[in-house]
Amino acid sequence: MPSIFTRIILREIPCHEVYRDSQVIAFLDISPLSLGHVLVVPVEEREFLHELSEESAAAIGRALPRITRAVIAATGAKSYNILQNNGAAAHQAVPHVHFHIIPKYGEGSGAGCGLGVDWKAGQLAPADAKMLVAKIREHIKV
Ligand code: AMP
Repeated sequence: MPSIFTRIILREIPCHEVYRDSQVIAFLDISPLSLGHVLVVPVEEREFLHELSEESAAAIGRALPRITRAVIAATGAKSYNILQNNGAAAHQAVPHVHFHIIPKYGEGSGAGCGLGVDWKAGQLAPADAKMLVAKIREHIKV
């Protein structure tokens, strides 16, 4: 089932496009958290970041700083968040990988200010750190 972003990529439905190459498209978010809120989307149709091909991931990696530079130059924003949600529990609404570029204006969390982050940090237990380092290293494939 193609996502709404695939339909945008195929130009079946309109968007406010700011960038396009053979592997990446970027357009204004239709419900922005702040002025200049942009979505950067791989042409490759995958639901989760970890499913992207190396080629598509590299293309996104190249395009994201380039588009971000243009957004901050255009808006004058001094701060910004890059947000990338995976899975409904993590607030992903559109099942097609996308990165949000969200300019942050001031330090508030009101409408139009940008992303508000409710970050409830814990403490890293030494035993968890040891276990996680061993397991994550074991699973990294290069
Ligand atoms: P997420 O919660 O990370 O999946 O974010 C999906 C984003 O897509 C939301 O911020 C929506 O406002 C945005 N969105 C959904 N449909 C469109 C559309 N047709 N054009 C632009 N942005 C859209």
